Amino acid sequence: MEDSVLYDLPTEFFADMAASHGYCDAQSILPFEGKYLCHCTCGSWDIEAPTRDEGLTLARQHTAETA
Ligand SMILES: [Zn+2]
Repeated sequence: MEDSVLYDLPTEFFADMAASHGYCDAQSILPFEGKYLCHCTCGSWDIEAPTRDEGLTLARQHTAETA
């Protein structure tokens, strides 16, 4: 019975987490139209990088700044 409640939550739950905590738990770098979209779980880091390596470098800089 409680399962249905849990399944309703994720979207709001994660939005809440990002807004209230902003932890840099993970960064994603996804190829998109010839460039790379970089995103962090903290929700305040969304950039484009020309290469995956540059995305990784920027991700390291980002986590270093916020650690
Ligand atoms: Zn972050």
